[in-house]
Amino acid sequence: MPIATVNPANGETLRTFDAHGEKEIEQRISAAARAFRTYRTTGFADRARLLNRAADLLDEDRPEIARTMTTEMGKPLAAARAEAAKCAKAMRWYAAHAERLLADEHPDQADVEDSGASRALVRYRPLGTVLAVMPWNFPLWQVVRFAAPALMAGNTALLKHASNVPQTALYLGDLFGRAGFPDGCFQTLLIGSGAVEAILRDPRIAAATLTGSEPAGRSVASVAGDEIKKTVLELGGSDPFLVLPSADVAKAAATAVTARVQNNGQSCIAAKRFIVHTDVYDAFAERFTAAMGALTVGDPLQEATDVGPLSSERGRADLEELVDDAVGQGATVLCGGRRPPTLGGGLEHGWFYEPTVLTGVTPGMRLHREETFGPVATLYRAADLDEALDLANDTSFGLSSNVWTRDQGEMDRCVRDLEAGGVFFNGMTASHPALPFGGIKRSGYGRELAGHGIREFCNATTVWYG
Ligand code: NDP
Repeated sequence: MPIATVNPANGETLRTFDAHGEKEIEQRISAAARAFRTYRTTGFADRARLLNRAADLLDEDRPEIARTMTTEMGKPLAAARAEAAKCAKAMRWYAAHAERLLADEHPDQADVEDSGASRALVRYRPLGTVLAVMPWNFPLWQVVRFAAPALMAGNTALLKHASNVPQTALYLGDLFGRAGFPDGCFQTLLIGSGAVEAILRDPRIAAATLTGSEPAGRSVASVAGDEIKKTVLELGGSDPFLVLPSADVAKAAATAVTARVQNNGQSCIAAKRFIVHTDVYDAFAERFTAAMGALTVGDPLQEATDVGPLSSERGRADLEELVDDAVGQGATVLCGGRRPPTLGGGLEHGWFYEPTVLTGVTPGMRLHREETFGPVATLYRAADLDEALDLANDTSFGLSSNVWTRDQGEMDRCVRDLEAGGVFFNGMTASHPALPFGGIKRSGYGRELAGHGIREFCNATTVWYG
């Protein structure tokens, strides 16, 4: 894949970049390792000052970087601005809380004495240089979600961003530099995925984090496993959205639309499978389908646009294959199911797809099993909660889940039985710096955000005094 900015709204190549060669990669790895030696000894207050400065700069840059993101990967401009604001918030949150989250832990004195010690504690020390392999869908957030805690913990970072968002990748390297982080603390590598293995095997790289597809995760985790290096994987999802009889159906349907089409449908935590109790199925299906069909698809730089293009031609082709396979096997299209026929002004060359609702999806269809990375929803009817839970768990993924009910007994059952890293009631899944984020099954392992996230790349050191 060339490293280039190609506007997905019209297919125009705007800028291309040469990949870094061996010499430039070596310089950056060695700068990261060198920086770690001193940066690891800095205090939380100093790190927080730098991270807060980065947040202030990001706020100032918001209009410009939002436009860059939209031009590189097609998300609506308002969503790009919101993403930048969320990143600044997460930076400030970690700047304020890292010291508390990484405070020494003191076991019970009776246990300490039982171990033969006069005193014992656990100290969280940084691991070293972490390689971050990141995707294009939230090109700022996915990186900041890792970088803010990693830098506060005293690690240094090398970013290998997706090849279609090079300008956002370079912006990030520049941002942390302007904020005053010492040289080598955070650097962007402009490289293709083929260069990742050698970097990961370099002894100066301590660990890796990857957000992206299952094949990419498998590849990075195998190399890291071979090298006995820690990884965090945040992969795909096919989150269920359950609507049960006591739900506020109108609110559930309105939220379902946002949950499905956020980021043009290209979010790992987007609700993708809508599983509706038969008592409220018709009412939900009617509202949901009408609202999906009424969305404005078009130029993501226009404020009125709800849904922009998919990020790549390949992404749209993958989505079309999934829908065509299902329709070929008897699924019914309630709305969408095609490219928008009337876009002009160059947008006809972009990678748009209409918001789509499908019903009659059965286990033999690819759509039932695979992640739909675009504005396509599948609608299932469930006879009761048991069937709804069976359908919800009938997936290889386990990122998050959404349930609409006012019944506490049903809520307790869902918390017990849903196979996912999150259960969100009467709302849609969204990440927040104070709440851990991540999945089980093929959605990956490890957690980002909150205390769990900052401790992933720490050495929990037992300190024992005889
Ligand atoms: P990829 O997983 O291919 O890309 C994500 C990142 O991984 C990019 O930086 C990519 O680099 C890198 N990468 C890809 N393959 C390897 C490899 N073998 N070794 C090391 N690094 C690698 O995502 P795609 O853009 O191809 O999207 C495909 C599918 O992935 C989507 O349809 C969706 O299902 C899923 N996805 C999930 C995301 C999530 O948020 N969980 C985000 C993005 C995608 P490069 O760009 O140079 O190939």
